[in-house]
Amino acid sequence: MSHAANLDKKYIWHPFTQMKDWIKQKPIVICEGKGAVLKDDQGNKYLDANSSIWTNLHGHAHPVLNKAIQGQLTRISHSSGLGLANEPSSFLSQKLTRAAHPASSARWNNMVRLKKVFYSDNGSTAMEVALKLAYEAARRTRGIRHPGFVSVKGGYHGDTVGAVSVGHIDLFHKSFSGLLFKSKSVMSPYCYRCPHNRATPERQDARDYRKCKWECLDPVESAFRTRGGNSRTRKPAAMVVEPLMQGAAGMIPQPKGWLSRVAEIVRGQGAFLIADEVMTGFGRTGTLFASHQEKVQPDFMVLAKGLTGGYLPMAATLMTQEVFDAFLGDYGEFKTFFHGHSYFGNQLGSAVADASLGLLSLPDNRRKRKNLEKELRRLLKGLWVLPQVGDIRQVGLIAGIELVKDWKSRLSFPLKDQAGIRVCQKMAEKGVLTRPIGNVVLLMPPYCTTIAQVRKMVRVLEESVTEVFNQT
Ligand SMILES: *Cc1c(COP(=O)(O)O)cnc(C)c1O
Repeated sequence: MSHAANLDKKYIWHPFTQMKDWIKQKPIVICEGKGAVLKDDQGNKYLDANSSIWTNLHGHAHPVLNKAIQGQLTRISHSSGLGLANEPSSFLSQKLTRAAHPASSARWNNMVRLKKVFYSDNGSTAMEVALKLAYEAARRTRGIRHPGFVSVKGGYHGDTVGAVSVGHIDLFHKSFSGLLFKSKSVMSPYCYRCPHNRATPERQDARDYRKCKWECLDPVESAFRTRGGNSRTRKPAAMVVEPLMQGAAGMIPQPKGWLSRVAEIVRGQGAFLIADEVMTGFGRTGTLFASHQEKVQPDFMVLAKGLTGGYLPMAATLMTQEVFDAFLGDYGEFKTFFHGHSYFGNQLGSAVADASLGLLSLPDNRRKRKNLEKELRRLLKGLWVLPQVGDIRQVGLIAGIELVKDWKSRLSFPLKDQAGIRVCQKMAEKGVLTRPIGNVVLLMPPYCTTIAQVRKMVRVLEESVTEVFNQT
């Protein structure tokens, strides 16, 4: 084992990892990356099939992004956003607010405009910003004395205490329940396991949603219904959603129309809509932002992961003029938003985010993304024949393959069987790196992935499922 591997095992505690297992294994030590390929310190090459946990967009060591950072590096890396402005974050803010309004958006219903940007360091902190602002804005402008939040079962919005409070993944969140504020949860539109539509499919790849009457929207409506005379004092201030696809819940796509209907309910109740685009933003789902596919413009847009193209930890919360104005006042009124992080508006992060947005807007970049998405869709169809493949879910360049004991009954593997983990370990041996969410194996290639590389990702996934479950 290399020196770095030894030191890692001696000193580092890895996220979301049972360290008892970790210290028994030989870690892969990544030391280089180029495009969709990662290289370890033993000279082995791997495909980065989950875009380094959903962060990378254009590939590693991209010449344009490298140049943006190098150029900024010669000038300044960081100066405080407290009391000082800087060039890269000013330029980026204009680009972000413009990008949040595609030309067609002028004709959308309930169109609000995202006008202001608040920077932080990661998806969780960007969510904290949205939650605090929505809470206080609801008190100040909507007369709600004790604002609450509604979010979706299985929702994941980060690991800080506020973000966990609006998250609903029992496995991650249960042990901290004593620390959290209460939030309401509504059912997830998880069509594959919908309690309202249990029709057994004839074929593995045939899903029948025709009987759907949008039962999943009833809980959203009732979450906003408040009992008795205190309807104005105890009301949800906002609903938090991951637009088009819930990520950490296991890549659960929403049926077409779900998001726009939810937005209508939320707005009809005078509440804010907070779109957590941390995973779905920056072209992942086809459009620059996922909400826009449903002609929905949220009151808050939460951005992180892909913001810097996967280069640096930086995040942004976009919000409306209405929210901004609720914090204006004479100094002595103390309406100031008392919140901020040391690396607010970091110059290196802003410079690379700006360059990444530039790449995303190139027609060639869009075309390549579209082709890659089509090819991934075509290839994944080939997996339906595997008896352990229960469901295949894809939105843009995000795919989740749900492994089951038996496709007909949709019976899940118990989590302790580590079905997903074992498949991903096998894939790593074959040169493809990704991570599972429980029994769901993810493929989320960087946009620069070639057709040959995406073919390898799917082929290795197929071989690994077959080998792990001992088929021939
Ligand atoms: C990853 C993620 C977060 C948290 O982002 P971090 O940068 O890891 O704190 C929040 N929301 C969604 C939808 C995510 O996928």
